Amino acid sequence: MIELPEASVLAKQINESVVGKKIKNVIAVQTPHKLAWYFGDPQEYKSLLTGKVIGGATSYGGQVEITAGKAKLLFSDGVNLRYYNKGEKPPDKHQLLLEFDDGSSMVGWVQMYGGLSAFPEGENDNKYYLIAKEKPSLLSNDFDEEYFKSLFDEGTAKLSLKAFLATEQRIPGLGNGVLQDILFNAKMHPKKKAGTLSADNQQVLFDSIKNTLSEMTVKGGRDTENDLSGKPGSYKTKLSKNTVGQPCPTCSALIKKEAYLGGSIYYCAGCQRL
Ligand SMILES: [Zn+2]
Repeated sequence: MIELPEASVLAKQINESVVGKKIKNVIAVQTPHKLAWYFGDPQEYKSLLTGKVIGGATSYGGQVEITAGKAKLLFSDGVNLRYYNKGEKPPDKHQLLLEFDDGSSMVGWVQMYGGLSAFPEGENDNKYYLIAKEKPSLLSNDFDEEYFKSLFDEGTAKLSLKAFLATEQRIPGLGNGVLQDILFNAKMHPKKKAGTLSADNQQVLFDSIKNTLSEMTVKGGRDTENDLSGKPGSYKTKLSKNTVGQPCPTCSALIKKEAYLGGSIYYCAGCQRL
């Protein structure tokens, strides 16, 4: 899944290698996928985008927005986004393919679910997109202690930390993937109730969010996700499908996996307290 570190890395890579390229052809829905989400009619993307030049990319939370003339492209959730140089063959199955006039291409395809949209600037009224653009960005100075502490209130007191941090777009870009190491580093259990955190605990959690996400971003994303060239990130996840059943790096208890709130949680019962 594209979460904040991956969105940030993809945007940077697009700015380094795709900006300035002119779109020669667009193929949408080559391979139909029930859980590939589009804005409007994807068959109109070809006329919207052909002839446009890639102007730049920005990440909002876990979404990557690319400017192409007066149009925007938006990729989110479980989309795999890859760039292929001239001569490199893109995969046969995909939901959105952009061919550039120098023979290179960029392709998006969905595994479980994900969004691949193109739209005239200003026309996308999808609430996840608008919320991600509007709320303070996690790694910016606007997302500070005061803002984070304001999220703890009567309405969120009964929520588990997983629900509090990683659902309802409360903190765009912080999803169930990055959540695991954030809570491990804070020594807090995903089922711990948000309302039980002391002011000191809130500070520890805030610091863990900032530090963990910075490290993931600086290292090119998590090792469970791939970048624009298809390479996994260099950030070694402590808690993920890669480490379940292995000894905790801190206390050697075995890392557990459990289904919880529509996704897997991973934790160390020795280090992470309820
Ligand atoms: Zn441990």
